[in-house]
Amino acid sequence: MFSVLTVVPCLLTLPSKETATQKAERDPAGSTYNTQPMAKITFLGAAGTVTGSKYLVEAEGKRLLVDCGLFQGSKDLTQRNWEKLPVDPATIDWVVLTHAHIDHTGYLPRLVRAGYRGPIYANPATRELCGLLLPDSAHLQEEDAQFAAKKGYSSHKPPLPLYTVDESKAALEQFKDIPRAASFTISPQFTVRGHDAGHILGSSWLELTITENGKQILVVFSGDLGRYGEPILNDPEPPARADFLLCESTYGDRDHPAGSVADELAQAVNDTVKRGGAVVIPAFAVGRTQTLMYYLRQLESAQRIPRLPVYVDSPMAINVTGLYENHHEDHDLEFTHEESNGNHDPLNVHEVHMTRTVEESKKINDVVTPCIIISASGMATGGRILHHLAHRLSDSRSTVLLVGYQAEGSRGRALQDGAKYLRIFGEQVPVRARVIEIGQLSAHAGKSELLRWLSGFQTAPRQAFLVHGEPVALNALQAAVSAQFRWPVTIPAYQQSFDLNL
Ligand SMILES: [Zn+2]
Repeated sequence: MFSVLTVVPCLLTLPSKETATQKAERDPAGSTYNTQPMAKITFLGAAGTVTGSKYLVEAEGKRLLVDCGLFQGSKDLTQRNWEKLPVDPATIDWVVLTHAHIDHTGYLPRLVRAGYRGPIYANPATRELCGLLLPDSAHLQEEDAQFAAKKGYSSHKPPLPLYTVDESKAALEQFKDIPRAASFTISPQFTVRGHDAGHILGSSWLELTITENGKQILVVFSGDLGRYGEPILNDPEPPARADFLLCESTYGDRDHPAGSVADELAQAVNDTVKRGGAVVIPAFAVGRTQTLMYYLRQLESAQRIPRLPVYVDSPMAINVTGLYENHHEDHDLEFTHEESNGNHDPLNVHEVHMTRTVEESKKINDVVTPCIIISASGMATGGRILHHLAHRLSDSRSTVLLVGYQAEGSRGRALQDGAKYLRIFGEQVPVRARVIEIGQLSAHAGKSELLRWLSGFQTAPRQAFLVHGEPVALNALQAAVSAQFRWPVTIPAYQQSFDLNL
């Protein structure tokens, strides 16, 4: 399945920082130009796959890591989270983030545990979201490990979390704010500027200016790009110029369906209510959950669906409306606070239950009347959603609603592909619930939206790299970009390095 990843050897070995220094010392009379290695980039994740985003940029012997994501999905991939990073974290000087999603930030606690001591640069919204998501990710892993220890099904003996809540908090202490939309000088070698990517609150695409030996190289990192015309977030800002470009390709092979989210959501909810079942939605407590709440709230207010209890089942579940209120620069929502008619929060339905403890979570199993349950992880690779699926999947009255990207090898993908059984906690659970996908709710640009964003470039990049996609999507987008723009387009392999020459 991931043959393209598993057979590709490490094409270029990374010179360590010490090697560069030693080289300079061996040639003390030589010019800096001759002794310093050329600027280069190494793909340490999201190469040939959608998760684990990590791009190492090196210039003048300094190292900057752009994003630090967790691998998710198949065992082959998640195993990499447990292996040593191909570069010693202690030799990395800075980290900068495009946005808060775990596949872009979830490796940070491991990086810090393994010796990374530098700053983690992110804009304030991304920092605040990471403050929720990283401990949440740690909590879920701790719960999974405890549960696996109790049931004795883990391959790790004893089952361990990838990192603990304390380790996630240690990583959060290294965060430093950078401006949402202005240049920020990291070092003499690196200057970064964020632009709105329209994907989640705080999401940015980054312009990285590398200064090396008096020359400047501009590298654009798309991060994850959102959709145009979304009800909450701003559209992605168009790019203008890049010498080198890294573009995400999650939906590089397809567009999202054109139907109305409100209509499809109303139908899924009403059909489930008629059957007396529950709507189970794999999603993190922040991000897609608010988009979903926004639509549910509108449907409730228009009396197109009944008022149902919605359970946001997460150990870190909190009302994140405040985050949106604090970061108006990202969205066009209006919050009114006249309380004459109950809550006026456009990001919450009338009856929301935030469940934090395992006991509260278990009690949701006792709810036998129609309800909506939102729980992580978004691809059902772990977390409390597994308990809800184990409990509700075999119930033909229930509906599983898929609202995000489902990576190869994940349980979410298996459901999307029509699996009749799903393996959960070592058991085969029959899938009798309806499985419905509302692709329009995706936080990712579809193929034509990616091409629309790329058409913003006024001059051709010297080299475009396609990342953050599965092989089919990467190949389709490569063909489309070559045909439409005639740029050189490369699909880098895991751990492959490229010189950034002008
Ligand atoms: Zn993302």
